[in-house]
Amino acid sequence: MNIPNLELARSILLDETPLAHDCGSLCGAACCQGNDHTGMLLFPGEETLYEGCTFGRILIGKETIGQQKTRVFVCRGTCPREQRPLSCRLFPLFLRFRDGVPRVRLDPRAHMCPLRRYGIAGLKQSFVERAEEVYNLLLQDEDCADFLHGLDRAFSL
Ligand code: SF4
Ligand code: SF4
Repeated sequence: MNIPNLELARSILLDETPLAHDCGSLCGAACCQGNDHTGMLLFPGEETLYEGCTFGRILIGKETIGQQKTRVFVCRGTCPREQRPLSCRLFPLFLRFRDGVPRVRLDPRAHMCPLRRYGIAGLKQSFVERAEEVYNLLLQDEDCADFLHGLDRAFSL
């Protein structure tokens, strides 16, 4: 995706959070507790925003999501909030496709997230709406659309 559109997508979720208060206080920020080999998938083109990054690094995997090699951002469990990857901003949401129709759902990888038990209805409405806006923007980009379809396939098996 071209960088201005990627930055626009990231900016839409800059200050949004899944709940009105800091949900990280419920779980000790469980979604930020990866290890040296796990992290958050970067969207196509997003890796260029992390050149010279001091709070994390990128692992390039052998696997592919759509046509893209996986690029995983591995952090140390904290980051400057305004620099967090798009996947962190969207979590715990995920885009599913059913009969080609995209629908925002909870992320099947979010086992550690206590918000899962309440479903999407338990999340802040403005967060869900902005995530939908971001997904619509991403789907206009060929590489990101391919990535999102590939991600859905990868977690539908
Ligand atoms: S795991 Fe869920 S509740 Fe915890 S910080 Fe992440 S999104 Fe919030
Ligand atoms: S980059 Fe930031 S928001 Fe994303 S997992 Fe790491 S600490 Fe959490």
